[in-house]
Parts: sequence; structure tokens; C-alpha cells
Amino acid sequence: MTQIMDGKALSNKILNEIKEKTALLKTKPGLCVILVGDNPASRIYVKNKEKQAQDAGFNSTVYRLSENTDKNELLRLIDKLNNDNTVDGILLQLPLPKHLNPYDFLDKIDPKKDVDGFHPVNAGKIMLNENPYAVPCTPKGILTLLDEYKIQIEGANVVIIGRSNIVGKPLAQLLLNRNATVTVAHSKTKNLSEIAKQADILVSATGHPDMITKDMVKKGAVVIDVGIIRDENGRLRGDVDFNSIKETAGFITPVPGGVGPMTIASLIQNTYSLHILRNKL
Ligand code: NAP
Repeated sequence: MTQIMDGKALSNKILNEIKEKTALLKTKPGLCVILVGDNPASRIYVKNKEKQAQDAGFNSTVYRLSENTDKNELLRLIDKLNNDNTVDGILLQLPLPKHLNPYDFLDKIDPKKDVDGFHPVNAGKIMLNENPYAVPCTPKGILTLLDEYKIQIEGANVVIIGRSNIVGKPLAQLLLNRNATVTVAHSKTKNLSEIAKQADILVSATGHPDMITKDMVKKGAVVIDVGIIRDENGRLRGDVDFNSIKETAGFITPVPGGVGPMTIASLIQNTYSLHILRNKL
């Protein structure tokens, strides 16, 4: 029997815990999200982040900047937020419009306010197996979910399909730090099905709907579906062909209701922790 890993329920539990802890604080954690342009998916993600931060009792501010914002204007805003003592977490929503390079900005965010964990200092700390100020939200959410379902990570054979800087790479390093044996696959990988089939834990983060099929999954494997794709009918889909593998996998995350809510819960956890850290509480 395949067990569904309920990210929505776990996320609600985490959010309630943070809300209770926040109510006991004298000062409120502050999260600032910067949204540049009109990407429709980003607008929905940002609205959701804003709502969850407000529900947790945080000070939540969204800076909505126009599509043609120039580099200096965005740098000035980041500088202002770095120097604002009421701000604990700064999140620059990606992707940026084409004329802006995210790496011109991500390393300008104070690493102690880098709530997404994308600053080179935080990426480097993860690489060195030291404590970063914040762990990237999607990988952190996946680890929290694996731990909740008591999935053995040490010694597990993990295959991650996707090597982006926000999901695949940090997740690979975090799992290596937890003593998993990690293979990272990507669009140039040969014999993907055979590699995927070796996995005790298979993570897919490609953005290609239904690309993970039954022949790629070992009996009893844990399957983590990171993909979020909105199809032509407006329905959210993942990378995994859920119906075809649901009798084969031991555990599986649904889309929606799996990794997505865990990412938001991690963002709220990170904001809270940065506040505690900065205020030495
Ligand atoms: P990305 O930057 O586009 O990276 C996609 C990765 O998948 C790349 O490494 C690419 O390989 C690889 N890939 C693409 N096609 C492949 C194929 N046919 N076979 C093997 N590998 C393939 O994407 P991302 O930002 O990591 O996001 C991936 C998906 O996760 C998207 O659907 C996104 O919406 C979703 N996402 C969800 C959450 C959440 O909270 N649930 C968070 C972040 C992202 P190359 O490197 O060789 O190009």
C-alpha cells in the first residue's frame, strides 16, 4: 500500500506551532518579499507567502516593483531593507524580468536576513556542513517531510532529477550531509530510467508533467514530486505520473498538497529563526 505524504497537514502543524511561539514574543518577526514584474505564478506565490506570514503573526511587507525596474533601484531597496532593524527576512521572488540577473542581487542581501538561503555564504556553509543562517526552503521542507515519515536517510540511495541552485543542488548537499548516497541527474543524463530505478528515495524537480512513470520507480521507493506545472485546463500537476506509480511506490507526495506547502512552512520557520538569531532571544 502506498502511503501519501501529507505536506499540507504537516505544514499546518508547523505554521500553528510558529504562530503560538510568535504570540509569546515581545517583537514580531518581519518578512519582506520583493516582487519585480507581473509573472502570474509569482504573483500567486507571493500572495500566499504574505498571507502565511500574516497568519503567523509576523510583520509582512511586499514590495511590488514594476517590470522595468532598473538594477540600481532594486539594489537601493535591498540596501534599505538590510539596514532596517525591523526586517528579519528578505526574499527576492524569482524569476526576475530578463534584464535583471538574480546573482547581481542575491549576494547583496545580508546573509543573516537571507531567508531563502541562496546567498553564497549560506550555500557555502551548507557545502561545508556548517550551520547556515537559513536552509533553502524547498530542500528544507523535503527533509522535514522525510523526517516526519521516519524515512531512513543515512545510507539510502537517493536520486535527484534536477540540478537547479534552488532545489536539486542544495538538496543533494543536505542529503549528503545526512550520509545518503546521492546521484544528481539532469537533462544530459543517460539511462535516466535505470538510474532512477536504483533509488530508495527518488526526488524529481524538472517541471515536466508525468515524466516519472512506473518503469522508473523501484518497488517500495519514496517518491518526492517537486514539480509544479499548471496545465492548459488550469489544473496543477507534478513531475510524477501519480496514478501509474501509486501501487509501486512505498511513499509519495501529492501535487498539490505535498512539497509546495512544506516550502511555505519552511519560509515561515526560517523567518522566525532569523528573528530569534538576530535578536539573540
Ligand atoms: P529549473 O531551474 O528549470 O531546473 C530544472 C532541472 O530539471 C534542470 O536541472 C534540468 O536539467 C532538469 N531537467 C529538465 N528536463 C529534464 C529531463 N527530461 N530529464 C532530466 N532532467 C531534466 O527548475 P527548478 O526551479 O528547480 O524547478 C523545477 C520544478 O519544481 C518546476 O516545476 C518548479 O515550478 C517546481 N518547484 C516547486 C517548488 C515547490 O515548492 N514545490 C519549489 C521550487 C520549484 P539541466 O540542468 O541539464 O537543464
